[in-house]
Amino acid sequence: GKVAKGWEKKADKKIERAAVLGAGIMGGGIAYQSAYKGVPIKMKDIAQDGIDLGLKHANQLLSKLVERGRLTAGKMGEVLNRIEPTLSYDGFDDVDVVVEAVVENPKVKHSVLKEVEGKVTEDTVIATNTSTISIDHLAEPLERPENFLGMHFFNPVHKMPLVEVIRGEKTSEKAIARVVAYANKMGKKAIVVRDCPGFLVNRVLFPYFAGFSMLVRDGADFQEIDKVMERWGWPMGPAYLMDVVGIDTGVHAEKVMAEGFPDRMGKSFTAASDVMYEAKRYGQKNDKGFYNYE
Ligand code: NAD
Repeated sequence: GKVAKGWEKKADKKIERAAVLGAGIMGGGIAYQSAYKGVPIKMKDIAQDGIDLGLKHANQLLSKLVERGRLTAGKMGEVLNRIEPTLSYDGFDDVDVVVEAVVENPKVKHSVLKEVEGKVTEDTVIATNTSTISIDHLAEPLERPENFLGMHFFNPVHKMPLVEVIRGEKTSEKAIARVVAYANKMGKKAIVVRDCPGFLVNRVLFPYFAGFSMLVRDGADFQEIDKVMERWGWPMGPAYLMDVVGIDTGVHAEKVMAEGFPDRMGKSFTAASDVMYEAKRYGQKNDKGFYNYE
């Protein structure tokens, strides 16, 4: 990977209008951050519940800023007005960039990406926020793979400074430059990396999760592991981090990593999150994961 210096200068235009597909943990966060930094964004989901959650998330973050005196109520209204919640593709022919943030499932992503490609112009850049799935694989059904790439935010979006911009085999320089410029506009630091399952950060993070899982399988108490890692200096331990990420999302991503690196990330490493997933304990998103949040 290379730090994305110089890319922004190559951008052919400013991003004036954006759209995000999926209003979940990540989509809601991306909509908030874009709106907060001044770029209007359509936030599309297939479920009204999803949209309500995304808007609630933005409202909570903004209300905190108002309480702390860092934002006026008027400005809060302006930011919220820049998020346009929708269940349809109306107006998608008028956006410069679309960020796809639906579930981490290659089949669902293939169908959503193909669908949105039919709704935007030939100039629109389509980015995916996938955590792990190869960009070249996701590009397979697309007619304009040159307009497609990865734009990988981290959770929580408003706090985490890094964005991985992932270049597929056919991605154009225009697409990279535009997405780097958009990331910068959102106050993030972009790095441009090559394509492979997990990209850069998750190739470091998932072996760490696998190490955690093996310790639990060997009989360690997950709360003790969390305490130790916090004492060591990390902001949170692996079990708590999995709850924040979403166990369901983590399990899907682990599967992609196990398939991508079968000799290093085999199935037996993922035991801890699999048990949680089968018990439908998805983490903070449904109030129960390794810990209870009710
Ligand atoms: P989530 O489950 O919180 O949200 C997914 C949303 O997508 C839901 O609201 C769902 O209704 C919606 N959706 C499903 N199909 C759709 C469709 N066809 N069109 C529009 N919306 C649709 O998931 P998330 O954690 O936000 O993850 C989204 C993506 O971001 C995944 O690819 C994930 O790997 C990636 N990601 C997640 C994290 C994390 O920490 N959670 C971090 C980085 C990247």
